[in-house]
Amino acid sequence: MKEQLMKMLEERENEMIEIRRYLHENPELSFQEEKTATYIADFYKGKDVEIETNVGNGYGIVVTIKGSRPGKTVALRADFDALPIKEELDVPFKSKNEGVMHACGHDAHTAYLLVLADCLIQLKDQIQGNVKIIHQHAEEVPPGGAKSIVEAGYLDDVNAIFGIHVLPMAPAGTVGYHSGYSFNGRSYFKLHLQASGGHGSSPHKANDAIVAGAYFVTTVQTIVSRRVDPNSAGVVTIGSFDGKGSFNVIKDSIEIEGDIRYSDNDTKAIIEKEIHRIVRGTEELFGVTCELTYEPDYPPLYNDPEMTMFVADTLNEVKDQHIKEVKEFPKMSPSDDFAYYLEKVPGSYFYIGCTPKGVKEPYFNHHPKFDIDEDAILVAAKSVGHVVCNYLSKA
Ligand code: MN
Repeated sequence: MKEQLMKMLEERENEMIEIRRYLHENPELSFQEEKTATYIADFYKGKDVEIETNVGNGYGIVVTIKGSRPGKTVALRADFDALPIKEELDVPFKSKNEGVMHACGHDAHTAYLLVLADCLIQLKDQIQGNVKIIHQHAEEVPPGGAKSIVEAGYLDDVNAIFGIHVLPMAPAGTVGYHSGYSFNGRSYFKLHLQASGGHGSSPHKANDAIVAGAYFVTTVQTIVSRRVDPNSAGVVTIGSFDGKGSFNVIKDSIEIEGDIRYSDNDTKAIIEKEIHRIVRGTEELFGVTCELTYEPDYPPLYNDPEMTMFVADTLNEVKDQHIKEVKEFPKMSPSDDFAYYLEKVPGSYFYIGCTPKGVKEPYFNHHPKFDIDEDAILVAAKSVGHVVCNYLSKA
């Protein structure tokens, strides 16, 4: 079956590229991907498969391909939202939706997965087990689509999940993997600090919110330097300190907002605990009252080591002219809500090199000139195809 699948994918490479270009030309923002979702649903029309639309908290689509013999269920996910970026790339299929751009390659993710899914539907008599195709909306904007899809139970009967992301740090033909924690998690917080205002000349009759807030900002800098294991990564950034007032008036309240990043769940817990502690300390130290809103966002993405080695071994052993190199990639500092699926079931999120041909220093994902080598789309389809075939045929 695998040989047949690979042949079918090769024959449909142009179709994948056409789909990618159509999506690239018609990008939609997270949670607003109505037309993209319709396009995806229409693709499956008339095909012998179960499809569910409006899945989760948006336009998610789940397609279940049931094989002819019982076996394991493997899920594959591709995201399909775009970004609020004005495209600066000059291509014939440039974004027609001004100010919105597929600058993260989700167009390529969706293109490969549609065609791979269709090939698997045609081959389903030969499939042992099931394949669940997750076309996910809203990856770019928290709370994201993944969490709601997991909460709706779509992974309850799934044994493993795989997904890919195109990255221009390697040429098309290179597949990257990383075991264990691979993308950072993040949290957001807002602190409202209430003191009492007064005349600039009479500090003893007031309680200065600016001074208390400034201590808070300085103190939280000790979390990463003094509390976090130097072998882990953590970031505490205060991005907003809203203390605007008048030069001779003691400020009665301020609002502080911050961005927290962490490489793993232990660091996540340490930073959260310490922020709460410093807030309580600030109240005690300055006699102010604090209201803290602390919202954990996408978790750190953990690639199951066994599944990741399974992907690496599968692709290393395969003799495929399109998969030229399989190698370990470094840890990535952004966040991706694929992490939620991996909290529920083991799996691996791996990388597909896509440096545009002839380019030495490619623009990275989310840049207005982000571009891919479209050869990478077939590499994605074949890599995931190999992984699915091997996974389902494993006893
Ligand atoms: Mn992305």
